[in-house]
Amino acid sequence: MTETIQIAVRALVAHTLSRGDLSSGFRGASRNVDAIRAHQRIQKSRPDGYLPEVTISHEIPVGDLVLVVSGRIDGVFHPTPEKRTSENRAGRVYIEEIKTTTGDLEHCSADENPLHWGQIKTYAYMYARRHELTDIDTHLTYFQLDTGKHIVLKRSFQIGELESFFTDLIDRYLAWASTLASWRNIRDTSIRTLSFPYPDYRPGQRAMAVNIYNALRRHRQLLVQAPTGIGKTMAVLFPAVKCLGQAEIAKIFYLTARTTARGVAEKALETLRAGGLRIKSVTLTAKDKTCFEPEAACNGEECPYARGFYDRIREAVEHLFSNRDAFDRETMESTAREEAVCPFELSLEMARWADVIICDYNYAFDPRVFLRRFFQEEPDLFAFLIDEAHNLVDRAREMFSAEIRKQPFLDLRPSVKHRLPGLYKTLGRLNRCLVTYRKQCEAHSGVLSDPAPPEPLAHLIADFIFKAEKWLMGNESAPFRENLLDLYFTTTGFMKIFEQFDESYVTCMEKTGEDLRLKLFCMNPSRHLNAALTRCASAIFFSATLTPADYFHTLLGCGDTAGRLRLGSPFPEENLCLLIADRVSTRYHHRPKSLRAVVDAICAAVGQKTGNYLLFFPSHAYLQQVCDELSPLLPDADILLQTPGMSETDRENFLNRFSLPGHRTLLGFVVMGGIFGEGIDLEGDRLSGAVVVGVGLPGISPENELIRDYFARTCSKGFEYAYVYPGMNRVLQAAGRVIRTETDRGIVLLIDERFTTHQYKYLLPEHWRPLYMKDPSRISLSVDRFWNRQDAALKREA
Ligand code: SF4
Repeated sequence: MTETIQIAVRALVAHTLSRGDLSSGFRGASRNVDAIRAHQRIQKSRPDGYLPEVTISHEIPVGDLVLVVSGRIDGVFHPTPEKRTSENRAGRVYIEEIKTTTGDLEHCSADENPLHWGQIKTYAYMYARRHELTDIDTHLTYFQLDTGKHIVLKRSFQIGELESFFTDLIDRYLAWASTLASWRNIRDTSIRTLSFPYPDYRPGQRAMAVNIYNALRRHRQLLVQAPTGIGKTMAVLFPAVKCLGQAEIAKIFYLTARTTARGVAEKALETLRAGGLRIKSVTLTAKDKTCFEPEAACNGEECPYARGFYDRIREAVEHLFSNRDAFDRETMESTAREEAVCPFELSLEMARWADVIICDYNYAFDPRVFLRRFFQEEPDLFAFLIDEAHNLVDRAREMFSAEIRKQPFLDLRPSVKHRLPGLYKTLGRLNRCLVTYRKQCEAHSGVLSDPAPPEPLAHLIADFIFKAEKWLMGNESAPFRENLLDLYFTTTGFMKIFEQFDESYVTCMEKTGEDLRLKLFCMNPSRHLNAALTRCASAIFFSATLTPADYFHTLLGCGDTAGRLRLGSPFPEENLCLLIADRVSTRYHHRPKSLRAVVDAICAAVGQKTGNYLLFFPSHAYLQQVCDELSPLLPDADILLQTPGMSETDRENFLNRFSLPGHRTLLGFVVMGGIFGEGIDLEGDRLSGAVVVGVGLPGISPENELIRDYFARTCSKGFEYAYVYPGMNRVLQAAGRVIRTETDRGIVLLIDERFTTHQYKYLLPEHWRPLYMKDPSRISLSVDRFWNRQDAALKREA
C-alpha cells in the first residue's frame, strides 16, 4: 500500500538545514500583527502580474511512499508569455519570500540565513517545475518592523541548480520520511484492531464515546457534562484515537488545566497501549519546571544544552522516535541529558511528530505562548480535547488579560542612565504617566477602572519596546540586561493584549503603596476563545460540571452548531447520603450568628462514623473560625488545615494523610475552588464524606464586580455570571469528591438556606434527591441510618 507523507516547506527546511546554537542572541519578540501588515504592505506595492499567497505542492513518489511537500509562497510575479520571452528582465518570473525583522537590515544582507534561502530555493524549484521554467529569479525581502524600510536580496537560479539543491534536501529527509511512513502504517493497523480496553462500558460511557466520535468525524464542537466515575478520559481518548486512524483528524491535543490531569491522560494511553495500540504521545512540561540551567539564558554562550542544539537535535529526535512511544517528562529529561539538548525544546520538536500532545491549555489558547509552529505555520485537522473545561473560563480570563506595575520601570531607570540615555528618558516619561494614573487612583480610594484602553501609556510602552529592542539586538552585556529583558517581555506581552482591547475589556488600576498595578482585564473571554478555536477542526469540552449549559456554551466561545450532551450518574443512588441543612445562613454578615449552627451540623454529619472527611469553606478566615469553634467539641478527631500558598509537596503530604481510616476521624478543612476543590481522587474508605459550607460564591472584588456589571449590561445576568454560576461550580466539584467509583459510599452535607431557593436549586444535578434537614439531630439520625444500611448491605454481600 502506498503511504503518503505530507511535509510543509518550512518544516522540511528546518528539519534538514538547521545548524548551530538554539539561539545565538536576542532576536526580538514576534509581532504578529505588525508582521502581517508588513507582508500586506510589500505585496500591495508590487506590480500587476504579482500574485500574493500562492499555494503550491509537489509530489515525490519514492517506492511505496509519496512525499508531498507543500507551502505558500508569499508572492509570485508571473507576467504574460509575451513579456516573459522578451529580453527585458522586468518580464522575468520571480518568486518572493518576505521576512520581517526587528534587527538591522545590514545584518540581514551580510549574514546569509540558510533557512530563509533554503525556503525560497525550495519554492523556486517547485514553482519552476510546475510551470516548466528553465530558470527563475528569487527575491528574499527583509522588512524592518520599526523603521518600515526593506531590502530585497535578489538571486537567479537555473533549474538544474535548484534541482540538485532540492534533490539533496529530499535525500536527507527521505530516511526520516520512510520512518514516519512505516510508523503511520504500524499505528493505523493497531488502531483498526483496537478494542475498547475494558470488558464493558460504564453506564453512559458508551453514549459519551459515540457522541464524541461523531463530533470529531464531523469536525464539530461538543460540550459534554458527565459525572465523575463515568470514565471520561477513556470515553474521549478512545474515539479520538479511532478518528486519527481514519485520518479524520491529524493530531490530538489533550488540553488540561492541571499537571495531575496530564498524568491521567498518560495513564489512559498506557491502558490503550496495553491493549495493542501503537501511538506516539508527548507531554509538554513548562520550560521553567524542566530547565536544566535555571540561572542561564537560552543561548549557546550561557547554556550547554543550547550550544550546538541544532547540530544534535535531529539525531536525538530520530533516535527517540524510533525507540519509544510515550515521550513523558521523565523520558524527555533523560534523553535531553544523554543527547545534551534542551529538554523543553526537545519536547517541542517531538510534538511535531507525535500523534497526541498532552499539555496545558496555554499552548492552544494563550496569545503569548500558543504553539505557532502548529497553529500558524502548519495548520492541520487538529482535535482539541479540553479536560475539566469549566476551568477554561477563568483560565482564559487570565490568558487574555495583561498587567504591568510602575515599580520595575522606576527600578530600571538609574541603571541605564549613562549607557542608554534615550531609554532613560522614555522610562522617565513612563514613570510620570503611571504617577498620573496613580494620582487618579488616589482620588478614588486607590482603585479605579476605565472602559477605555490606556492609549497614552501604550504609546510610551511602544517607545520603550522599540528602544529596548534596539539595544538588546546588539547582545551586549550590562548589569541591567536581565532586568531590561524581563521588562521587555512583560511589555511586549502587555502590548499583545492591548491590541485586542475591545468592549469586553476594562483598564483596572490599583494603588499599592507607592506602586501602581495597571491591568488590561478581559471580562468576557468568549470572542478570543472563539477565535482560538479556529485553530482546530473539532473541540470537545468535557467536565463533570458544565452547568448551566448556556453559560458555558457562551463563555467558552462555542459556535451555534456546537452540540451538548449531559449524562447522569452511573452509580447507585443509595450509595450517597445527600443532605441539605437549609435552616442555616452562611451569608457573610450572618456568619457570627450562625457559627454554632454550622459547627453542630458538621459534628452531626461526621460524628456517626469514624472516617476521613473534607470540609469545604468559602474562605480561609471562615475556615479558621469554624475550626476554632469545632475542635474542642471533637477532641478525638485529627484536624488538618489548608493554609494559603501551599506548595505541591504540602498538597501531597496533606492528601497522604487521607489513607485508609484508622481509629480516629480525620477532618480536612479546605477552601472551595482551591487546590483540594477538584481533581483529587480519594476512593473507597479514603473519604467518607464532604461537608460544603455555603454556596461557594467567589469573594467580592473589584474584578468580580466588573464582571457583574459587564454581564448585567450585556445579558442581564450580572450576579449569576460573576458569582452564582462560578460558586455553584465549586460546590458541585467539592461534592463530587465523595463518590468516585461504583463501590464508593459516603455522605455529602450542604449547609446553606440558599440551596432551597430557585436560583441555586435548579443548578443541582438532576439525579440528586437530597433530604432537607431542619436541625442537627435530624442530620445525625439520617447519617446514622445511612451508615447502618450500608453496613447491613455490606454484610449481606459478604
Ligand atoms: S536548558 Fe534551560 S537555559 Fe538551557 S536552553 Fe533549555 S530552557 Fe534555556
